Amino acid sequence: MKKIIAANWKLNPTTLKDAQKLAASITRTKKNTVVLCPPNIYLSQVSYPLLGAQDCFWQDKGAFTGQTSPLQLKDLGVKYCIVGHSERRAVGETDGQINFKLRALLEHKIIPILCVGYGTSVDQDDLEVVDVLRGQLDVDLKDVNLASVIVAYEPVWAIGTGHNATLEHAEKISIFIKAKYGVKKVLYGGSVNGVNAGGFLSQQHVDGLLVGGASLVAAQFNEIINI
Ligand code: PEP
Repeated sequence: MKKIIAANWKLNPTTLKDAQKLAASITRTKKNTVVLCPPNIYLSQVSYPLLGAQDCFWQDKGAFTGQTSPLQLKDLGVKYCIVGHSERRAVGETDGQINFKLRALLEHKIIPILCVGYGTSVDQDDLEVVDVLRGQLDVDLKDVNLASVIVAYEPVWAIGTGHNATLEHAEKISIFIKAKYGVKKVLYGGSVNGVNAGGFLSQQHVDGLLVGGASLVAAQFNEIINI
């Protein structure tokens, strides 16, 4: 079974030339479904079989300065969009807004990669984590058609820190999200690299990975997507 591996480049790189160079150095593998999510400004000029955005607005057009709409993403051939990343929640994005975004994306047949996990710390036990996730997912997924929604579970303490969750924890939380909400695919994200990726990908209920830092290093990311 193919896994989904999405690269979140965040606010990198700083030139179009470097973005094109990075995309060109990522293998076009058939082993897994690989999605590159460069900054929105590069989406029309970066070439890769599957592209994703890192965020979008919920309106198609109008007086919404600085926003990018799902309709515009669709016009560029973008197939996926990350929504509710903890770095966006940290600057004030709410679950209500995330819910609007999910619905708008689905209306235009763009697959949302919904990130959850904000608020957890390395010391929290699984029950506390589940509580945080409930608070997010109850609102994020309200009245959403779940058929094509992908959820990425990302413990915030694991993002960009070099400290990943245990395989057991990732598997357990994936099972919870699927069982409680009927979500079909759950990814793990948080300090994934070429060394630990294989372990996560071998978990039955972890359907893939959301990779930040390691996706900016072509050799590392190629290792991950070719596992
Ligand atoms: C992310 O940005 O979603 C992420 C998981 O980052 P990193 O892989 O760097 O922890």
